Amino acid sequence: MLILQKGFNYSQDGPGNRLVYHLQGCNFRCKWCSNPESMNGEDKNAKNYTVEELLSEAKRSRMMFFDGGGVTFTGGECTLQYKELTELLKKLRAEGINTAIETNASSPYLLKIAENIDYLIADFKHYDTDIHKKWIGVGNEAVKANLEKIFASGRQIHIRIPVIKNINDNPQGFVDYFKSFDTSSAVFEFLSYHEFGKDKWTEDYEIEDGFVSDETIEKFIKLFKQNGMKVTKT
Ligand code: SF4
Repeated sequence: MLILQKGFNYSQDGPGNRLVYHLQGCNFRCKWCSNPESMNGEDKNAKNYTVEELLSEAKRSRMMFFDGGGVTFTGGECTLQYKELTELLKKLRAEGINTAIETNASSPYLLKIAENIDYLIADFKHYDTDIHKKWIGVGNEAVKANLEKIFASGRQIHIRIPVIKNINDNPQGFVDYFKSFDTSSAVFEFLSYHEFGKDKWTEDYEIEDGFVSDETIEKFIKLFKQNGMKVTKT
């Protein structure tokens, strides 16, 4: 598996203290991506590991998985390496190690992969497919289709919305979309735009002022709660 970076992180990539693997490669081109070096299929800092090497590393790290922790795969987009990812997830679970992924939710294999995941985190960036395509490079149809199947199945899902000024800072549009479904198995989180990855962009960085106020995030929280949806902050 091609891994860009790895390390431990607490609370933001699933429950407890987790060993987090950033897999190389992404099928999206979010204009605000904080890991632009992960987008392409290769990077000078990415390294290949076998499933057995990663399994062995996770087993050696058991003592670090406190407070319900385990292993998380993120990206880039971890589901692009779905064959190896599925094999590793199954082996981790067989060892009793908690598994999580953070995904852009576009993979046709997502539901299959999710069978071996304890904690599923999915981004949802825009409810309008044309705007999604403008800022991300592809429409949102595949993401919506996956989310709708997950809502119908009732499995747990943690949905993260990165909120960016003048791009997707209208909570009503999100609520109008989500309220058509039974989202009782979902919890929603709103992430304020930041520019931590801006210096790593080699192409022009096109977001001019994406910062949102605390009041904007509060509006999201309030409207989602008013519509019966669960909200969290990690
Ligand atoms: S989905 Fe994530 S990794 Fe891929 S381009 Fe968007 S922000 Fe970057």
